[in-house]
Amino acid sequence: MSKLMDGAVISKKIKKTLTETINDMPRKPGLGIILVGEKEDSKIYVKMKNNACKQVGIINYDVYLPENVSEKIVIETVENMNNNSNIDGILIQLPLPKHLNKNNILNKVSINKDVDGFHVNNMGKLAINDFYHAAPCTPLGCLRLMEEYNIAIEGKEVVIIGCSSIVGLPLSFMLLHKGGTITICHDKTKDIYEHTKKADILICATGNAGLINENHIKEGVVIIDVGINKILDTTAEKGYRIVGDVDFDSVIDKVTMITPVPGGVGPMTIAMLLEQTVELSFNNQDIISV
Ligand code: NAD
Repeated sequence: MSKLMDGAVISKKIKKTLTETINDMPRKPGLGIILVGEKEDSKIYVKMKNNACKQVGIINYDVYLPENVSEKIVIETVENMNNNSNIDGILIQLPLPKHLNKNNILNKVSINKDVDGFHVNNMGKLAINDFYHAAPCTPLGCLRLMEEYNIAIEGKEVVIIGCSSIVGLPLSFMLLHKGGTITICHDKTKDIYEHTKKADILICATGNAGLINENHIKEGVVIIDVGINKILDTTAEKGYRIVGDVDFDSVIDKVTMITPVPGGVGPMTIAMLLEQTVELSFNNQDIISV
């Protein structure tokens, strides 16, 4: 049996269902992405999101703003989207340029349109396991992958490396509420390997290629590798290769299941963005979700 948790396959299945759902909707769901600046990676991510929207029938209402834009203009753009009844989800592509106050901007998104779940109200509700309109897409994608592959969380030792507010922190809330015993490590943790060796489920979200190898895990662990790292590879077409935080070849014999990079969590993040846009659209159009 394959040990791979294949995000590409699962996301394709989710997109097929969404396409059929959207076909039957009176108004097509709308997603507004705000991209500030010229960061190449961000432009690629937005393009991937646009392509995925197109595949399922979500309409994009994106706004591109220059690198030196004022916070006032960004907030006005958010507010225009809040007031546009064709837009169901608003996503601020991160990271923002340093002169902009990220939280100030994220908290201007209407909580009914907060498709990434970064508004402090949605994040707070997620923390206390109350009803939230939407949750951060990457953690949600990790959770869905585990569900699809019947990975039990209750009673398990779950170790998360990386505690950013877009991945590790919200994922810790989600897995805690599913009954996991959660340990969160970060760059100030004295010895992360003391923790990783005990993990039944290990989640890596740091951006450090090769952080985890066979010596850092126990036999039978399930690994979710969120990391995306570019490493030089002169034999590759583009001169680089994308790898995760985990040395895949080193750990594969020891794990029960693992997500590949690429093709694991990445496609699931986009699938969750699409799914949450459709769910918000159901709420905004007052349609009962099926
Ligand atoms: P971030 O820089 O905001 O946070 C990184 C976290 O890792 C921090 O908590 C930091 O303390 C911790 N960390 C860094 N080095 C460490 C080390 N050596 N030991 C222990 N902890 C360490 O990054 P982020 O935005 O959370 O992203 C993390 C990684 O996940 C990146 O590679 C990013 O590209 C990737 N990512 C992937 C997706 C996806 O869809 N697959 C989505 C978001 C982020």
